[in-house]
Amino acid sequence: MEDDRQALFILRHHRRFPSASHALVEQIGKRILIFTSATREPMDDRLVFFHGREDSSFSAMTTTPVFTNLTLVRHPLVQHKITLLRDRRTPTKIFKELVDEIAMLMAYEATSELSLDPVTVQTPLEQATGFQVSGKKLTLVPILRAGLGMVEGILRLVPSARVGHIGLYRDHDTLEPVDYYFKVPGDAAERDFFVLDPMLATGGSAVSAVSSLKRAGGVRIRFLCLVAAPEGVRRLGNAHPDVQVYAGALDRELNSQGYILPGLGDAGDRLFGTR
Ligand code: URA
Repeated sequence: MEDDRQALFILRHHRRFPSASHALVEQIGKRILIFTSATREPMDDRLVFFHGREDSSFSAMTTTPVFTNLTLVRHPLVQHKITLLRDRRTPTKIFKELVDEIAMLMAYEATSELSLDPVTVQTPLEQATGFQVSGKKLTLVPILRAGLGMVEGILRLVPSARVGHIGLYRDHDTLEPVDYYFKVPGDAAERDFFVLDPMLATGGSAVSAVSSLKRAGGVRIRFLCLVAAPEGVRRLGNAHPDVQVYAGALDRELNSQGYILPGLGDAGDRLFGTR
């Protein structure tokens, strides 16, 4: 008990583990899993701490197929927050906050290979060499409507990014997605695109969105989702092998209605409270 109290104190008062706490944290690590900084309000503790017992641990999702076009973001924070998203009891407000936070964490990974140019800056003391992200301006393209939930979190990391939009509906006869809205910056060939949709399910919308972007001149395109189904990853990979998918989880399968299992339900409804 005393160890637990000490460890919680340390974890609540440091953004990162101070080196002196490592042994203590490891010692009780099986009983307390720590997921983020301890600087939030107690109200948010549900989101940032997972109070577990010996038998509590996160296991990987049950699927393990390997797709070369898929990068799984396995960061503990992403896994923790996706688990909260899956929980049917998570209310709309928290769901929205979680989607925003996960999108930001995923963007951190998806931007990890951006190249840097050296720049000179004048510090208060002397001249220093720093770096700035080189290359083309990033453009976020949420697929309406659920993709909108991922925009703000990424903009917090890359405030200079532009935002395009793609609206799709499913034609009742052909069952194929049809664009009803498409707007991206004019200089598409010069830009890096992140297409955003929390769920990569059948892949129909994703393939259609990427095709539209390519018709508009887009060349460097990535697809960011929170949860992917193997069917969607495969379909997008077959249609657009040049587009890398970033996902927080690769789930088991689709059901007969095209919902991801185990999934998290209808992401749009849960984001906007329209269930
Ligand atoms: N879209 C969703 O919102 N959820 C799914 O499970 C599949 C598609």
